[in-house]
Amino acid sequence: MRRVLFPFVSRLVISFQYQPLIEALISALLGATLRYHHRAFPHRKWISDAYSYWDELRKTAHSVKAGVCQMSGYIFSSRDPAIVRNHYIEKVVPVYRSVTEPELRLCPGEWKYGSFFTTILAECRLYQPWATERFLENGGQIVKLDLNSFRELHGKYDVVVNCTGLGAKRLCSDHKLVPIRGQITKVRAPWVKTAFYADFDTYVIPGFEGVTLGGCRNYDSYNTDVCRHDAAAIRERCESLLPSLKSAPVLREAVGLRPHRDPVRVEIELVSTTEGALRVVHNYGHGGYGVTTAPGTAKYAVQLVYDALKSNSKL
Ligand SMILES: Cc1cc2nc3c(=O)[nH]c(=O)nc-3n(C[C@H](O)[C@H](O)[C@H](O)COP(=O)(O)OP(=O)(O)OC[C@H]3O[C@@H](n4cnc5c(N)ncnc54)[C@H](O)[C@@H]3O)c2cc1C
Repeated sequence: MRRVLFPFVSRLVISFQYQPLIEALISALLGATLRYHHRAFPHRKWISDAYSYWDELRKTAHSVKAGVCQMSGYIFSSRDPAIVRNHYIEKVVPVYRSVTEPELRLCPGEWKYGSFFTTILAECRLYQPWATERFLENGGQIVKLDLNSFRELHGKYDVVVNCTGLGAKRLCSDHKLVPIRGQITKVRAPWVKTAFYADFDTYVIPGFEGVTLGGCRNYDSYNTDVCRHDAAAIRERCESLLPSLKSAPVLREAVGLRPHRDPVRVEIELVSTTEGALRVVHNYGHGGYGVTTAPGTAKYAVQLVYDALKSNSKL
C-alpha cells in the first residue's frame, strides 16, 4: 500500500487499540439490510466501489483464506413491501428479484412480500487476519495505543486516518455518534446453505464457521453483556423461520455496539494543536454496515489522504 499509493510517504502506520469483539462476531451478508439507514451513506459510489472490491476478492484464489464467498438468500415480510426492497443494493448485486408465490411458502409464517438476492458473504473472523497480513507484507506497521487526543500524534505523522468507530464519540466529541447494540448466536447447522431475513431484525446467515442467528438493535445502549432474554428471543424467531435450527447446538453468543452516525463521517479536518495543525481524515460512523461499505468509504478516505499529501499547504 505504501509503495503503490504513497511513494512519497516514509511511514504508513495504523494505530489502534486491539479489540477483537466485532471481528469475532460477524458473518456480514453484504448490503442485505442496507435499507434501514440508506440516508447515512449519501454516495452510491461508496456502495458500488465496496461491492466491486468484495466481488473481485471473491474471484481470486485468496477468497477462502479471506473468508469471502458468494451467498444467496431471501428476505420476507408480513408487514410492508418496502422492507424487502433495497434500492441501493438492487442495482449492484447480480440478482435481486421479487419472490414467487411458492417461494413465499418456503418458510413457515404468513409472508406477504419477499425478495431473493445473490450477494457476498464476508467472514470477519477470517477476513481481518488476512487483511492485516497483506497490510504488513506491503510495508505497513502496526502500533498499539490508546489515544486520548489527536494532539498526541502531532509531529509523528503527516496525516492521521481516524477509524475509531464508537471511540470517535470521545475523541471528536461527536454527539451524532450513537451505539446500536446487537446480539447474535452462532450455531452449528451445516445443512443451512441459504440466508434468510425476516421482520423484526430476524436473520439466519450461514458462514464459513457456523450459522449466525440474529438479532436486535438497541439504540443508545452501551450494554455489552450477553442478555439471555435477547438470546431466547433470537432463537425463537429464527426457529420459527427455520424449524430445523431447533437441533442446532450453540457455538457462542456475542454482543457488539454498532457505531451509528447519520450520515457516516468521511472528511478531512484540520485539528489545531499547540504545536500546529494536524491533518485528520475521519472515516467512522458506519453503523450496521461497516463491513458492507468499508472498502468504498476507505477508497474515498485514501483519496482524501492522497490529496492532503500532494498539497504542500496545510489546507
Ligand atoms: C451484531 C452485529 C451485526 C452486524 N452485522 C453487520 C453486517 O451484516 N454487515 C455489515 O456491514 N456490518 C455489520 N455490523 C456492523 C459492523 O460490525 C460495524 O459497522 C463495523 O465493525 C465498524 O467498523 P469500524 O472499524 O468503523 O469500527 P470498530 O470495528 O468498532 O473498530 C474501531 C477500532 O478503533 C479502536 N479505538 C476506538 N477508540 C480508540 C482510541 N481512543 N485509541 C485507539 N484505538 C481506538 C477500537 O478499539 C477498535 O479496534 C454488525 C455489527 C453488530 C454489532
